[in-house]
Amino acid sequence: MWVVPESEIAGLMTPEAAFEAVEAVFAAMARGDARNFPVVREAIGHEDALYGFKGGFDGAGMTLGLKAGGYWPNNQKRGLINHQSTVFLFDPDTGRVSAAVGGNLLTALRTAAASAVSSKYLAPQGARVLGMIGAGHQSAFQMRAAVRFGQFEKVIGWNPNPEMLSRLADTAAELGLPFEAVDLPQLGTEADVIISITSAFEPLLLDEHVTGPTHIAAMGTDTRGKQELDPALVARARLFTDEVAQSVSIGEFQHVAAQKTVSANDITALGHVILGNHPGRGDAEVTIFDGTGVGLQDLAVASAVVKLAKQQGKAIQIEI
Ligand code: NAD
Repeated sequence: MWVVPESEIAGLMTPEAAFEAVEAVFAAMARGDARNFPVVREAIGHEDALYGFKGGFDGAGMTLGLKAGGYWPNNQKRGLINHQSTVFLFDPDTGRVSAAVGGNLLTALRTAAASAVSSKYLAPQGARVLGMIGAGHQSAFQMRAAVRFGQFEKVIGWNPNPEMLSRLADTAAELGLPFEAVDLPQLGTEADVIISITSAFEPLLLDEHVTGPTHIAAMGTDTRGKQELDPALVARARLFTDEVAQSVSIGEFQHVAAQKTVSANDITALGHVILGNHPGRGDAEVTIFDGTGVGLQDLAVASAVVKLAKQQGKAIQIEI
């Protein structure tokens, strides 16, 4: 099997490769060529950790495997990031393990790629102002991907903990864009594309905050009980997701599904828009992409990085 260490990922994986891998796998899911397996996510009763597995099989890309890992909230005290994961790939012909790949940076890149893919297909014409809600570890990756694949001229941002906003200011400066810290009503009025990436358990962005043509990539909610958006805002928007079943169970749309203001039939998998089977934004004022994070995204970027690592002599081969 091949091992690609976490330390090599930054030098191997490009935002373009992540974007292409995620766009392709969303399309494969919509064609029915690829499917995610049910997610396992458990509180282990130690270190307040959430641990689990996200797996799947992509019969078009011939990628089989799982990502194992989760969220350790006390890791920062140890100088580690809170999300820890490893991707394992298996040979679909034999079941033999074929690769172990560090999954931390890949998770950030594939999550950022998913929201960037959603903006490619759903952002209003001429989107120039990017609004960021959240200033944690993921937010910088989200901003970088949005700016790389969009045509933004300004970034505005809000975070429940204002002392963290320097991350957004620094990232915008790195990208050569002006940054302004704003309140949520200003963010919802000015931003053409909004990315929310927090660990909130209550709505932050309210219906009355959002005016004009807007695309919202809701990326933070990936567990039962989490919530970033006002259900009234969700109910009036045109809704898209990576995978409908995950969206209504652990994603942002779990709340409107529970309230029965939205049903699974009202939500479109983004892959159908990518394939041209759905018009996407159409005449909707607000579109929302619920990025719940599917295992196939992890497998797609891991498979891409194994190929790059082998080409560049950076993969380690071991017998198991
Ligand atoms: P982080 O711990 O570095 O930052 C957390 C962010 O959420 C900060 O902006 C913080 O101010 C805010 N926050 C924390 N607790 C909050 C609360 N109770 N209410 C409102 N805001 C709160 O985390 P991160 O690595 O940046 O990840 C952010 C979120 O994204 C997490 O919830 C994580 O589970 C989720 N995530 C989703 C995916 C996906 O595929 N959808 C992938 C990775 C991470």
